Amino acid sequence: MEKGRTRVDLFEYQARDLFAKHGVPVLAGEVIDTPEAAREATERLGGKSVVKAQVKVGGRGKAGGVKLAATPDEAVARATDILGMDIKGHTVHKVMIAETAPEILEEYYVSYLLDRTNRTFLAMASVAGGMDIEEVAATTPEKLAKVPVNANEGVTIEKAREIVAQAKFPAEVAEQVAEVMVTLWKTFVAEDALLVEVNPLAKVASGDVIALDGKVSLDENADFRQPEHEALEDKAAANPLEAAAKAKGLNYVKLEGQVGIIGNGAGLVMSTLDVVAYAGENHGGVKPANFLDIGGGASAEVMANGLEIILGDPDVKSVFVNVFGGITACDEVAKGIVQALELLKSKGEDVSKPLVVRLDGNNAELGRKILSDANHPLVQRVDTMDGAADKAAELAAAK
Ligand code: GDP
Ligand code: MN
Repeated sequence: MEKGRTRVDLFEYQARDLFAKHGVPVLAGEVIDTPEAAREATERLGGKSVVKAQVKVGGRGKAGGVKLAATPDEAVARATDILGMDIKGHTVHKVMIAETAPEILEEYYVSYLLDRTNRTFLAMASVAGGMDIEEVAATTPEKLAKVPVNANEGVTIEKAREIVAQAKFPAEVAEQVAEVMVTLWKTFVAEDALLVEVNPLAKVASGDVIALDGKVSLDENADFRQPEHEALEDKAAANPLEAAAKAKGLNYVKLEGQVGIIGNGAGLVMSTLDVVAYAGENHGGVKPANFLDIGGGASAEVMANGLEIILGDPDVKSVFVNVFGGITACDEVAKGIVQALELLKSKGEDVSKPLVVRLDGNNAELGRKILSDANHPLVQRVDTMDGAADKAAELAAAK
């Protein structure tokens, strides 16, 4: 399992801000989260606006998440409609109030992305924009130009003209689109992005070319040199348990089930998930509640941190601690579990969920003895992985 996330998808308004910063032509816009705020925002834009749902999924227009408002009152009404709306499983918590484009004459598509398969960067451009680009690629691939970009050479104006020529942009917009391709490349490089996409890039009545919708995915691995990016991450949407685990440096992923899982080593934890899911079929379909790998050299403190996260998950009904002693021998782990339970109790945590512990590997006998001697009322020892999984599933189902 890959450690942590590596790709951070931004909201449209955040993409718009980055475009503006690097000179990609955009319209004014601001993000709000209450209907009433739409009024003032629209007044600031001269009395009319476009109200746009901010969700990280495409096709908002078709789903009714993009509406024109001719007056500030109408903007409030449209924001009322759109806030709280469900678009393909995403609840709308924010809307962007944007300046309305002059009459749109044509809609184009442009993007840059990291093409991992071909180990290069790729420019994509099409005069058939506005709609779903996957559809264009599937039905009329000849309308989507794909031009590799050499990372060392980047996108100069000459390179941009080559991309624009391949996509057969009309002569009257070619130079403007080429300039957008240059500023969009600057955005891509300067922000350490994995994707920058404009759809539509609109030709409007004035003859100008403007980015009306944008999508940006950032490379989280570059965060060390992008101090401003942390603020762009959507903390609210991240699971609170995952956020707490991340803060403690734990490799934790929340799942849907009821059996909390702790193990050492990603491979062991992955197979523990499988074994628990399988055992759960005999116990009313209970499932693993999480992935948590506390690593090879886990101390009592790490064990306590892990248990704290898992016991704090209201979905968890039982916990399966599955440890194969290696660098840290089983006796250390057993002491860690006993200490962790005491630590949590002394912190006033409610420790009332049953734990099933399976220890094997280095010093397993000693570890098992420590657990037996401790005789903790919530801890049960089961010495086989299948048996322990079955016991943990049974306890979760009984709750
Ligand atoms: P998407 O459906 O999620 O891709 O959202 P878009 O932001 O691309 O909006 C969908 C469509 O709404 C665009 O293709 C445009 O046709 C239209 N649209 C977006 N912004 C404006 C605007 O400012 N004025 C007008 N008239 N139409 C807009
Ligand atoms: Mn769009």
